[in-house]
Parts: sequence; structure tokens; C-alpha cells
Amino acid sequence: MITTDQTLTQATQLLQIEDEHVAHNYHPLDVVITSGSGAVLSDGDGAQYLDFLSAYSAANFGHCHPALVAAAIEQLKRLTLTSRAFHHDQLAPFAEGLARLIGKDMVLPMNSGAEAVESAIKVARKWGYEVKGVPDGRAVIIVAAGNFHGRTTTIISFSDDPLAHDHYGPYTPGFVSVPYGDLEALRNAITDDVVAVLLEPIQGESGVRIPPAGYLAGVRELTSQHRALFVADEIQSGLGRTGRTLALQHENVTADVYLLGKALGGGIVPLSGVVADHDVLGVLKPGQHGSTFGGNALACAIGRAVVSLLESGYFQERAARLGVNLRDRLDGMLGRGVVAFRSRGLWAGVDVDPRLGSGRDVCEALARRHVLAKDTHGSTIRLAPPLVISEAELDHGLDQLELALADLS
Ligand SMILES: *Cc1c(COP(=O)(O)O)cnc(C)c1O
Repeated sequence: MITTDQTLTQATQLLQIEDEHVAHNYHPLDVVITSGSGAVLSDGDGAQYLDFLSAYSAANFGHCHPALVAAAIEQLKRLTLTSRAFHHDQLAPFAEGLARLIGKDMVLPMNSGAEAVESAIKVARKWGYEVKGVPDGRAVIIVAAGNFHGRTTTIISFSDDPLAHDHYGPYTPGFVSVPYGDLEALRNAITDDVVAVLLEPIQGESGVRIPPAGYLAGVRELTSQHRALFVADEIQSGLGRTGRTLALQHENVTADVYLLGKALGGGIVPLSGVVADHDVLGVLKPGQHGSTFGGNALACAIGRAVVSLLESGYFQERAARLGVNLRDRLDGMLGRGVVAFRSRGLWAGVDVDPRLGSGRDVCEALARRHVLAKDTHGSTIRLAPPLVISEAELDHGLDQLELALADLS
């Protein structure tokens, strides 16, 4: 039998080995997770934690969801990877199902979220030159301040977060940044050379920032008027998190291009996609873009299972319903450690009174109470429990947040 002491020693050893052999590009909380089920994570000592982050929404369906694990195991035993040099039997049903779910014609399957963003940038530029008729080399993509679209050299070129951006130059040109939520600024920035406006319908990393009512509809109107593509990065906001399949649906707005990732891989494999109609994705011809692992059989089989989970609307409905509880509970914390919060569905950015400490301090206090969440910037923390969390678990986690704030005051 493993005793507590031995396990603690093991965990401490693992932390030391990580410190020595893993690049220090993250600063994780001091827990070493060894298993997970639903909304509960466990360490090697059997201690349980409620997951209030869901791997940044990649684990929307909870840990080791039985239907997703079954689909993965089934496929693992049969076929995992052929490359796209040959056809395999999982790609067509995955793409057809995802396109139907999103309401578009076609899917360009990739792996990471950043790859989906990169792919959309390439598609938008190509569309701009070949369809819109922008003179070669002049394409401009408008982005929003406070954005987070991933970590590649091109993507961080238009990030205004110094941690993400600084000392990685020279930077990729062709991007103009406007304040998020400011329609007038966008109107002034749109020229004939603009091929796309790339936005998160809700800015996740920025602290779950929700734009003013009418903004996204205004973006739709301006992009249509100026014949630019509206590219919605729904990698974190999409696939049920906000109570709808897509966050844009809350505003009754349709984008030209949707970027999906994170939850699309069921928390099991990286799987992302660019989803759009033929007139946009059709600009790609054989050899002009690709990925060895993009659209592999294992990922597609899991993606199919994710699409079927979402087709019933069950998770969207749960996120919407439990989101009301989340909002009510956070409302009750206003003035009691919480200075402001923004939420939609089971997703909230919570600004903690800076006098209590940083977001990191709050997350450490929460972890001591066995709830795992993540700070974004300053004194803001992000709450994004798995959509399978029970009402009692959600309540318990929020009780712990209240108590953690009390611990700090
Ligand atoms: C996480 C995220 C990405 C990048 O996804 P990776 O899989 O980490 O490359 C892009 N856009 C948004 C909105 C995200 O939240």
C-alpha cells in the first residue's frame, strides 16, 4: 500500500524532475494529477479536486467521458493514421457531421487551435487575392486588442500581451489591431485591402470579456459591406461552453469562417478545424496546404463522437441552465471579495478585489480547498467547469471560492 508520506515524496520528486527537465513556459499549481473522471481530478494520494478549468475548455465533456473513451479505444484498435495521402473511413463522416452542426459546407481539419488560426489566415489571404481581387501582397487582416489566438510567430505578431509577444520578432506584417467592442474603430480601419476581421466572440484569455450588445452584429454588417470575411475564433467559446453550440448564436450572428479546437478533440487528442462554405475553403487546391496528422483517423473518430454528443443539445442546455446558478452565486459574492464578473453559460471571468491578492493567490487558496482554477491577468480568475459537472459539485466549488476569498481577507 502506498502511504501518504511516500506519495507526497513521489509528487515532490516529480515536481523536481519537471523543474529540471521541462522548459519553464508554464507555472502550474502544485498538484500532480494521476486520474480524472467527470469533473473530478485525483492525485496519486487519492485526494480529489474539482476541475474548474476543464483544460481551458478542451475538457468540456469532463475527464474520460465514457462515450469518447469508447470511440477512442475502438478506433485505436483499428486504424490511427494514414496521412491524407490516402482516404480513410473516419474523415468523411466527421466532416459531414461537424459541417452540419456548424451550418457550413466544409471542414479543413488540423490539430492545434493555433494551426486552425494559421490556416484561416492563409485561406483569408488567398481568398482576398483570388476572389476579392486585392493586389498581391497587400492583404490586411483586422484583429482586436486583448486577443488570444495561439502561440505561433505569426499569431503572436498581433498579440498585445507583452509575455506572449516580446522578443519574438521580427514579426509578421499584415495585421491591424483595433479596440475590442468598438465598432467605430473597426469602421475606420476597414479599407479595400481588408480580407478578414478575426475575432473571439468572447475573449477568453483576456478574462472572459463579452463585447457590448450589438457589436458582433455590427462586425457582421461591416464585413459584409466591405466584402471581408468575418472569422470567428470559437476555439474556447464554442462547442457548448456558453450554453449554445457557438457563442455567436447568442447574438444571432453568422460568421463566414469558424475556428474550432480544444473541446473538438474530446480532451483526448488535439483536433481543430476551419469550418466555412465552398466559396471560401474552395480556394485551397491539392498541395497548397496540409498537415501530416490533420484529419487522422483516431482524431476523426473522437471528433465524430464529440459531434454526436453536441447534436442532442444536452450539453448546451446544461451549460445554459447551470450557468444561471453560476451567475447567481457570483452575484452574491459581489462586494465580498469579488469586484466584478462576466459570465455566459458555464464560463466566467471573475475580478477579485486586488487587495486580497493576485489571481494566482486566489487560485492557490482555491487549490488548498481542492478546487482547481486558473488566473488570467492581474486579479482575474477564469472559471470553466466541465459541462458534465453536477449541480451539487458546482455549488460545492463555489462555496470553496467564497471560503477562499474569506481566507484571503
Ligand atoms: C486556446 C486558444 C487558441 C490556441 O489553441 P492551441 O490548441 O493552444 O493552439 C486559439 N484561440 C483561442 C480563442 C484559444 O482559446
